[in-house]
Amino acid sequence: MSAFDYDLFVIGGGSGGVRAARVAAGEAGAKVALAEEDRYGGTCVIRGCVPKKLMVFASGYGAMADEATAYGWDITAGAFDWSKFSGRLNSELDRLEGVYRKLLAGSGVTTYDARARLVDAHTVALSTGETVTAKHILVATGGRPVRPDMPNAHLGIVSDDIFHLETLPKSILIIGGGYIACEFACILAGLGVQVTQYYRGAQILRGFDEEARGLIAESMRDLGIKLHTGTNIVEMHRAADVDDDLMSGPAEDVQFGGATSEAPGTGPIRVKATHGAIEDFDVVLFATGRTPNTADMGLEGVGVTLGRAGQIEVDAYSQTKVPSIYAIGDVTDRVNLTPVAIREGMAFVETVFHGNPTPVDHALIPSAVFTQPELGTVGLTEEQARDQEPIEVYCTSFRPMQTAFAEKPNRVLMKLIVSQKNRTVLGCHIVAPNAGEMIQLAGIAVKMGATKEDFDRTVAVHPTMSEEIVTMRKPMRTA
Ligand code: FAD
Repeated sequence: MSAFDYDLFVIGGGSGGVRAARVAAGEAGAKVALAEEDRYGGTCVIRGCVPKKLMVFASGYGAMADEATAYGWDITAGAFDWSKFSGRLNSELDRLEGVYRKLLAGSGVTTYDARARLVDAHTVALSTGETVTAKHILVATGGRPVRPDMPNAHLGIVSDDIFHLETLPKSILIIGGGYIACEFACILAGLGVQVTQYYRGAQILRGFDEEARGLIAESMRDLGIKLHTGTNIVEMHRAADVDDDLMSGPAEDVQFGGATSEAPGTGPIRVKATHGAIEDFDVVLFATGRTPNTADMGLEGVGVTLGRAGQIEVDAYSQTKVPSIYAIGDVTDRVNLTPVAIREGMAFVETVFHGNPTPVDHALIPSAVFTQPELGTVGLTEEQARDQEPIEVYCTSFRPMQTAFAEKPNRVLMKLIVSQKNRTVLGCHIVAPNAGEMIQLAGIAVKMGATKEDFDRTVAVHPTMSEEIVTMRKPMRTA
């Protein structure tokens, strides 16, 4: 008989927490409980990947109807009905949340609909007033979007709020240049919203390959997005409360980071930008970053250490400084993607419940940015690779057959970064429709250590866009 109530207590019912709990209970036979303070499924299912991807699909149909006419179809895209779409979206998320609850129950996991806080190395206090003990505690509390620390930031919304808009705005200002900002810019432009985007850096999608970033920025401008780089917001007010000269406006309700959004649709927001423009927008979306959910959880009190960004510090086995407490997923701020949180959860179970110490391999993780066109990427960018060793760069950019026929300007980009020393493909970057699907497959070859010659030996699938990835004969440059 164990001295503890449970073998494992998981805090957070998102991607990582649910998987770890299910596998520990179902496969390893452990006695497991999980606490979730909000909705089961977490960021990915409720306010991230899933609803976003459904919005990506929704936003694509308008352009498709347009292209179809060039192929002889007599079609005109009608108006987009946001309330119909969001009603169906919410039903789908309810269904998925139900699936997550069922999976946990089916694996024998006890669930608590409650916020959890650490009391000591083996004890958790729940917002229901209960206290439970466990041999191991797994913190999988994810992260949340943050607003910039500026007056009136509460007038803007964050990515969580997008899915709950009652009406689609006519105009939106998106602040930020990361993947979430760019994805929502493309989605909303596709749905007919006038999109303006400010990013304070010189180019969007920092950290991705420079040429890929450049092509996506151009493509976004072609979509009608008014993308301003090197630009930030200076101040914002409810338009009804100020004159044109914002500086003379009243200092309304000044609030700082951490404020919650106002109900949207209570009048346009007047924004002054660093380039001097003063413009009104129906909605301002801050996509300016995310922070790990570690506040007020009793972590430091029990000896768990946090990094500068508030993330839980862990070793390669996801173990914190307190031996009985582990942490996985976005709360550790390693690679903030759903499949990575899931891998970390499974490696944790393997390590702790199967006695097989398993670190997570964070190298060569393929990923996608669901802009229009998409970016699929794996491995090193040209810039990272050339700092590491001598490389060859194979690159091609062309107008794909499908949209060229419809006389659209769309271009795609295929790029391979190859080691001069051992011919290994160090990085693969694709900007194209469905690049996310392509990079999943190219990622296998890159992860296996394929050389450029392995790519060359593979016969092309014709006619496709991705055949170019195996037909680039001469390097564009060396570096
Ligand atoms: P989460 O899924 O965030 O789950 C944490 C859970 O813990 C939450 O449900 C929260 O309510 C709960 N919680 C927090 N504190 C407590 C507490 N004290 N007590 C009880 N419960 C608590 N990733 C991809 O791979 N592909 C994508 O296309 C993609 N798109 C994204 C789009 C957006 C807009 C966003 C925001 C994220 C996206 N991500 C994407 C990232 C992905 O959603 C996260 O990496 C993933 O959800 C992390 O899983 P997690 O288990 O660490 O945390």
